[in-house]
Amino acid sequence: MNDEVTGRGSDAPATSQRAWGERYDRTLMNTFGHPRRVFVRGRGADVWDADGRHYTDLLAGLAVHALGHAHPAVLEAISGQAATLGHISNLFASPPQIELGERLVGLATLDAPGTPARVFFANSGTEANEAAFKLSRRTGRGRIVAMEGSFHGRTMGALAITHNEHYREPFEPLPGEIVWVPYGDVPALERAVDETVAAVVLEPVQGENGVVEPGPDFLPAARRITAAHGALLWIDEVQTGLCRCGRWFAHQRAGIAPDVITVAKGLANGYPIGACIALGDAAGLFGPGQHGTTFGGNPIACAVGCAVLGVMADERLADRSEELGAHFAGAVMALGDPRIDLVRGQGLLRGIVLNRPIAAGAADAALDAGWIINAPRPSVLRLAPPLIVTAGQLDAFVAALPGLLDTVQERS
Ligand SMILES: *Cc1c(COP(=O)(O)O)cnc(C)c1O
Repeated sequence: MNDEVTGRGSDAPATSQRAWGERYDRTLMNTFGHPRRVFVRGRGADVWDADGRHYTDLLAGLAVHALGHAHPAVLEAISGQAATLGHISNLFASPPQIELGERLVGLATLDAPGTPARVFFANSGTEANEAAFKLSRRTGRGRIVAMEGSFHGRTMGALAITHNEHYREPFEPLPGEIVWVPYGDVPALERAVDETVAAVVLEPVQGENGVVEPGPDFLPAARRITAAHGALLWIDEVQTGLCRCGRWFAHQRAGIAPDVITVAKGLANGYPIGACIALGDAAGLFGPGQHGTTFGGNPIACAVGCAVLGVMADERLADRSEELGAHFAGAVMALGDPRIDLVRGQGLLRGIVLNRPIAAGAADAALDAGWIINAPRPSVLRLAPPLIVTAGQLDAFVAALPGLLDTVQERS
């Protein structure tokens, strides 16, 4: 194989990226469009493409690799566990699976120590939500109340509670009895929940919808309303959980304890994993044989999860996320740029709201200039950097931002 094919190192020829892109287009299903870049290497918040160009990664693979690329604790966990015991199926158990389960139970019950809680391990966010969806049916009720603007994943159950019609409609019929409520609307939630409702599902911050937060009264109200009607409160922390929003779980900011928490993205730094954590009576809803998975809870993914949670605790990454996020939001607003309306979000999950729909163009201009961010909405830029990002890296992006917005306006 020549260098053009392997794309190895910074001395790869300038055609590498194009050659990879053509092979991608011929071979991979067209669900994601043509790849904007083909990346070959990363370290911390730095990545390099197949042409040897450098980028600062301020998206962390969609809020996933919290510890950055090639973190030594992750390398050690993967190689150490792979050299010890890699897979056994759920006919059997392994120590990393039990240890990670215990850690997640501890974190989920931080504000309610002693509450019984149990974990089901899956391999992705959508599967964690699929487990929670099935768990909710074990209440004997069928109806689910979901939020307008929600995103919960792409499998049929998670898709049914995802609001975007463009994602949902081509695949109908989906599992039914879904009731939609405007996100953050307490009276509407009050009207929607009765004794026929199995669960209310919501994200503490809607990441895919453009980093949208409900008012501070919404999560406490959701807790009160679900408890009054015997419905489960299911919080999707797939994007917001595990220090991303300045707390172990974003809902802990509201001081509430849900019945079900789903997590995935930040848990194993990019090694596929998901988990559905149920608290209190909900922890006993599944019986033997009622749910399952071949790969879920495998020793390598769980060993990586343990290592990631260990680093997050040792390095106090929730606090770091809170502090750097506030610093970043303040720095962006201090630009006083008339094209920027506000910065929203929590911790290091941030949306820069522009006063015109140029976010897609601005994300493209950023990529050309060596910054990885994305545009979940036409006028919103999202940043979800590795939690080990430095203030200097964030400041450099803030300094570049007005120029990136100029570039879009010149191009249009
Ligand atoms: C990304 C995401 C999912 C889906 O996770 P996958 O691992 O892509 O299946 C579910 N819920 C939320 C809130 C997400 O951000």
